[in-house]
Order: sequence, then structure tokens, then C-alpha cells
Amino acid sequence: MSRFAGKVVLVTGGARGQGDAAVRLFAAEGACVLITDVLDAQGERLADELGAAVAYQHLDVSKADQWAAAVKAAQERFGRLDVLVNNAGILRWGALEAMTAEEYLQVVAVNQLGCWLGMQAVLPAMKAAGGGAIVNTSSVGGLQGIGGASAYVASKFAVRGMTKCAAIEFGRYNIRVNSVHPGGIDTDMVRTPGIDMDAAHAHIPIPRVGRPDEVAKMIAFLASDDASYCTGSEFVVDGGMMAGFNALHVTGQ
Ligand code: NAD
Repeated sequence: MSRFAGKVVLVTGGARGQGDAAVRLFAAEGACVLITDVLDAQGERLADELGAAVAYQHLDVSKADQWAAAVKAAQERFGRLDVLVNNAGILRWGALEAMTAEEYLQVVAVNQLGCWLGMQAVLPAMKAAGGGAIVNTSSVGGLQGIGGASAYVASKFAVRGMTKCAAIEFGRYNIRVNSVHPGGIDTDMVRTPGIDMDAAHAHIPIPRVGRPDEVAKMIAFLASDDASYCTGSEFVVDGGMMAGFNALHVTGQ
């Protein structure tokens, strides 16, 4: 399948985890991909592995000047920019009563400001390309609270909200903007030594942890013309985590 032949995709946080899976899928479906991340060695290794249609550029998403350089790099290397995947993110665990303002703002700078800066930075290039698609990675933590993750949840609710604002503003430019809400996905962000990830998800309707490629498929769908009438919406990839709670054990059935 080459849904992305002739298209240019920029993925933030693309060096590993869900970003890596998205990069691989876009490349396999014919896109030119600019991997961006702060993990330069891993990003360059992935670009080398995938060949001439994939390049790497350092991009700390919290820095506006680095965004300008990344968009320029995509245009210079591949001639245009059609898709932005705002995937980069960090998670800092901590009780609200114990977390410092600096820790809170560190999370907000990457997850929230980074996503906003990215949408702003790609707009001229997408206008020049005649349209585009932006996929912002939020979380189930952008739909419900998670104790111990107040900064993360606040930033992911913000991503969900700014996605809708951008969709409203950018529709006139033929640019669609949607958010993806993964549940528990097996990546370095959430893997914990000594914890069996499948066992930790045994209570949800699909009783296992999710795989990065399962999220990548949703991201690619939203970035593709298959999603031509989808914008400003939330797309959940969570094994049913958000469906509700199970009372069968209470009723003894
Ligand atoms: P990950 O930690 O493997 O990947 C995150 C990537 O973001 C890394 O490559 C990291 O280097 C990069 N990054 C961190 N700070 C950055 C910065 N300042 N600038 C640019 N890149 C930066 O985790 P992941 O699970 O692949 O996370 C991808 C996205 O999915 C994140 O936005 C995360 O919040 C979200 N998410 C993850 C889960 C999960 O269970 N893994 C669930 C819901 C949402």
C-alpha cells in the first residue's frame, strides 16, 4: 500500500516507541519522513536503517527556533510538508502535593507548548502544499484523570482542546487536525522493571498492553485521505480502557 506516495511527514519524538512505529509505517506506505527527536543517536540510526526517503533532524519541541529549523529542513530535503505527527512527550510521576512548579512546567513545555508550537510552525508549509493533516498524540489521560500524573493529565487535556481550536481555524486551509488517545502502550515511557505489562492490563476488555504499531495505524489513518471527513475529533486506541468499569466481579458473575 502506498497511501503516502509523494507526501512528506514530520514525526516528533520519532526515535523510539510509538514515534518509531509511526515512522516505519509512513515510510512503508511511501512517505518521505523527517524523524525529529532529542535522542540524536537513536534517530540517526533509524533514518540510516530506513534509507534515503527518511532523514533525521534534532528538534526539542519546546523551542520555537528549533521548530523553524525542522520545517525548513523538511522543505529543503523533501520539497514540501504534508503531515505533522506531534508525538513527542514526557511523563513525570508525582503526587500533586509533592510535585514542584518546575517539574510541572517541564511537562507542560514538552507536551503542551511543544504541540502548540508545532501546529503554528508547520502552518505556512502546509498552506503552501495546499493542505495537510496534523495528528496530535494526547492520551487516555486527556480524557480522564490519573492520580499521580497531574502535570501529564493537564498537558494532555490541553492537547485535546487545542486540537479542536486548530481544526476550527485550519479547516479553511484544507488542513485536518485530530487527536489520538492511546491507553497503556508498551514503550520505555511506561515500562517498569519487575512489572508484567500484560498482567497490569488484565482488567480491561482487551486484556493486554497495547503495541506501538497499533497506535501507528490509527495515526496513519488520520493522516491519510481515508480520514478525509475527520477533523477536530478524538480517536481512542486503548483496548477498551475508557469503556467503563466491570461490575461482574461485584455481582459474582
Ligand atoms: P517514549 O518515551 O518511548 O517516546 C517519547 C519520545 O519523545 C522519545 O523519543 C523522547 O526522546 C521524545 N521526547 C521527549 N522530550 C522531547 C522533547 N523535548 N523534544 C522532542 N522529543 C522529545 O514514549 P511513547 O509511549 O512512545 O510516547 C509517545 C507519545 O505517546 C507521548 O506523547 C506520550 O505521552 C503518549 N502516550 C503514551 C502512552 C503509553 O502508555 N506509552 C499512553 C498514552 C499516550
